[in-house]
Amino acid sequence: MEGKTSYERVVGGTGEEKEIALKELQNIFDEPNKKMGEYELEKAPEDLELIIKTESIVDDLVERYGGDPKPFPLDHIYILKAGSVFDMTEGKLGGGIHMPLGVKIGVEKGESNLLFASSIAHELFHAKSPKVARVGKSGEDVRIYRSGISMMDKKNLNDELGDEREYFGMLEEAIVAECTKKFLEKIAKEEPFSKEVEAVEKIWGWVSEYYLKTGMAEEKIQQIGEELKFISQPQEKINEVEAFSEDENERQSYAAGMFRRIYEKGEVESLERWRERKMMYDAFDNIIARANGRFKNRDDVFNEFAKANFSGNYLPLARMIENTMGKGSFRKLANEFAKEEKGE
Ligand SMILES: [Zn+2]
Repeated sequence: MEGKTSYERVVGGTGEEKEIALKELQNIFDEPNKKMGEYELEKAPEDLELIIKTESIVDDLVERYGGDPKPFPLDHIYILKAGSVFDMTEGKLGGGIHMPLGVKIGVEKGESNLLFASSIAHELFHAKSPKVARVGKSGEDVRIYRSGISMMDKKNLNDELGDEREYFGMLEEAIVAECTKKFLEKIAKEEPFSKEVEAVEKIWGWVSEYYLKTGMAEEKIQQIGEELKFISQPQEKINEVEAFSEDENERQSYAAGMFRRIYEKGEVESLERWRERKMMYDAFDNIIARANGRFKNRDDVFNEFAKANFSGNYLPLARMIENTMGKGSFRKLANEFAKEEKGE
């Protein structure tokens, strides 16, 4: 049975329980999310414009990876006051949240259009991956089973929700973060983002020149630059640097000092989920090394993983990994990337 809820199917339980579970999913889908409603801000016209633009770029990417993105109901996107996700999750998450069962997302709005769009994109990538639910202790106790490539351990039905082992949970997060990185590359030159991007690049230009002179490894500098996403009030910072001196060398050292200060204050943000992405890149490098030239670079391998995530069909990926890394290696990878807690 195909509903509007983006759930492909329900597994487990009897036929009757499955029917109840599907109805329950529809209810959760239709009901507004009370918790997020408490923190919700009204959507301004420019928010709507930004959401529409963001969703269309997300959909292009999801399609490129073999997905079938369904239009996301506008009232399933909650624009939240700054700090509310941290509040709602008791400090576990910040910036944005994905509620997989009801297929809703919440995104905080702050000063930066870029961060806002980036969070919407991130949560939409989660939300637009195919989902499978399962029957828990009863039909009413419907639970998430698969979201993209991630999969809940089915064994412990008695576990409270949130305690299950989630295979590939960290990998799903890494894939979403990598897609968000691609999204940011796409919007960098577009309105209303380009000004902010250019300002951040200008500041980073000074800082990186200074780092070069201090003898920091070029590779390291390049990596920081690639990961840099956000600087608070970048134009004001540029004005401050330019007012400090006419001399380019002095501007560089001033900017570097300022960068360190604002970094410590949390006014600088890097791309999300470095730990998960690093693990994923390392896995890619292992695959490339053993694939006899089948993959030229990490992006080639990423294609295979992203396709598994967004199409919902992970068998080609499993086959590729088993062939390259040996029998049992897909399961091994699923465990290495497992999360003990339900991801959001
Ligand atoms: Zn996420």
